[in-house]
Amino acid sequence: MATMTLAEHVVDGPGGYTGIDATPEWAQEVRRLAAARNATILAHNYQLPEIQDIADHVGDSLALSRIAAAAPERTIVFCGVHFMAETAKILSPDKTVLIPDQRAGCSLADSISADELRDWKAEHPDAVVVSYVNTTAAVKALTDICCTSSNAVDVVASIDPDREVLFLPDQFLGAHVKRVTGRQNMHIWAGECHVHAGINGDELTAQARSHPDAELFVHPECGCATSALYLAGEGAFPADRVHILSTGGMVDAAKAATSNQVLVATEIGMLHQLRRAAPGIDFQPVNDRASCRYMKMITPAALLRCLADNRDEVQVDPDVAAAGRASVQRMIAIGNSGGGE
Ligand code: SF4
Repeated sequence: MATMTLAEHVVDGPGGYTGIDATPEWAQEVRRLAAARNATILAHNYQLPEIQDIADHVGDSLALSRIAAAAPERTIVFCGVHFMAETAKILSPDKTVLIPDQRAGCSLADSISADELRDWKAEHPDAVVVSYVNTTAAVKALTDICCTSSNAVDVVASIDPDREVLFLPDQFLGAHVKRVTGRQNMHIWAGECHVHAGINGDELTAQARSHPDAELFVHPECGCATSALYLAGEGAFPADRVHILSTGGMVDAAKAATSNQVLVATEIGMLHQLRRAAPGIDFQPVNDRASCRYMKMITPAALLRCLADNRDEVQVDPDVAAAGRASVQRMIAIGNSGGGE
């Protein structure tokens, strides 16, 4: 009887691909297939630890897309959610971009469609559209300037104060930008990430009060970002120990941190990279249930299937890609782009 290959053990279920554990045999087969395909494996900071550990590069969404564009390999395997793989394709139109499971979506990117944005623009025909990078390629194509959490304030501040601004899709990041810039003619789309919105101010306040010596790393998409700034403003938490950071910024800040403990308000996959970056620091989640089910669809089985079968390939219409690329390039021209989610 013929022996089954490892990839033939992959099971396609409603929640994603299963049937394979991250064994040394799996790791060896993934590396063999990646070399045979001339592929580089990129993993977002929220991926499962075993996916992060086998990747060639781990980082935030924009940093990974730029690595994809510069990589000598012709195939990019993007272990993240769909809009991130689309952004890699926008910046690398001539490369093959694969995602291990194309069903890995994003509640924030899905909170505004291209049709909804067209309608919103029609209501404000002279407005400048600023979109966070967590958007689909079709929405980026209708955007004037993209932004990341690192440069959202700079991007909005660069716009003529007399022009209206449509900011999307994240209401927490939008509120943060509006507060910092003091801009009144800025309209904010009421979108949110279900994971980050679930990290709320009450939890943060309780954690901050019971760990008075800890530093605090907060992603600006969190429902608690406002609370973190409020706590610092009230003196309940020293302002110099509150850091509002993108996921890539968190890794850099971990290397520079001086306290023994850091509370982390973002998706819990982030803890793996932080603990690797600074093993001497005790990193604790503000909410240990903050796990993104879409990110976790990139399983060991999904990655093996992707490399074995050359799927799922991410395609972006060339005109949409060109328009989306222009909105990303306008952002990069303003500077301090950081890395997005
Ligand atoms: S954590 Fe939220 S914003 Fe990030 S991919 Fe998941 S749903 Fe989207």
